[in-house]
Amino acid sequence: MNILNMYKNDRTLLSFEVFPPKKTSPIESIYNVLEELCSLKPAYMSVTYGAGGSACDNTCAIASKIKNDYNVEAIAHLTCVNSTKKQVESALNSFKENNIENVLALRGDIVPDLPPKTDFKHASDLTEFIKQIGGFHIAGACYPEVHPDTPDDVADIINLKKKVDAGAEFLISQLFFDNNSFYEFVKRCRLAGINVPIEAGIMPVVNKKQIERMVSLCGASLPSKFSRIMNRYENNPEALRDAGIAYAVDQCVDLIANGVSGIHLYTMNNPYVARKITDSVSSLL
Ligand code: FAD
Repeated sequence: MNILNMYKNDRTLLSFEVFPPKKTSPIESIYNVLEELCSLKPAYMSVTYGAGGSACDNTCAIASKIKNDYNVEAIAHLTCVNSTKKQVESALNSFKENNIENVLALRGDIVPDLPPKTDFKHASDLTEFIKQIGGFHIAGACYPEVHPDTPDDVADIINLKKKVDAGAEFLISQLFFDNNSFYEFVKRCRLAGINVPIEAGIMPVVNKKQIERMVSLCGASLPSKFSRIMNRYENNPEALRDAGIAYAVDQCVDLIANGVSGIHLYTMNNPYVARKITDSVSSLL
């Protein structure tokens, strides 16, 4: 099913992200997690893709399991900066063979000791390429607090418009902890003529280390309310988890009340956290 069609009424969608297990763990190790997450009936689930362009098999297998065994719509992430056109084509063929019709087209991060390949420079190039091949619905990533490689928010919006014009039908945002940054970003998009649905990326706090890592990678700013929680409960994992869930629920309630198209929950493969948040907001959706 084309995920875009799910936005046709005014309700906010709740969707989940999962990532494949580490290379050292068998793929079956994630099946219980998938079963539990799918039982929460998200609108759809997305499956991440390795930055090095080598994780297609696991991404495809997991997206296939979600869609074909658990009957939840799936979107497979696909990065391009470390792939050739041939490799991308081969990944797309695997998706097609597994009935996966939605793809999140990404550039991927540029890794210092892995010089990028030359077939694709930006996600917009990948989007165009997938469009040419045909048979897929395409989404793109966006950054309420500006992508770290971009000089300013104007350039970021101009580049995002190129991605949408190339064929991205809806957007999923990077995580953020201050809803105002998302609302301001959506306003900038609308002013620039970017009119596709934009889902808000929400990452509940699971532990302090994980959040610090994510923030150093993606540059999300930390409101003082959030930092106070981190500092007060950093040595009490259970309290930190509960406060983190409450913070994410608070963000979700405000986003839903403001009529956002969707909330994309970065579940970190944690069904307990996903369930708590889903239970808290499901009557509002
Ligand atoms: P782009 O849209 O190409 O943007 C990258 C930079 O190039 C930006 O600075 C942008 O302003 C600029 N730019 C874009 N288009 C143009 C253009 N046409 N001309 C000039 N400049 C341009 N990474 C993974 O490895 N695997 C994943 O599964 C994954 N999933 C993600 C899911 C979401 C929702 C998000 C938000 C990010 C995800 N990432 C993932 C991280 C992502 O790959 C990185 O943030 C990467 O650095 C940028 O990817 P992009 O698709 O946004 O790139």
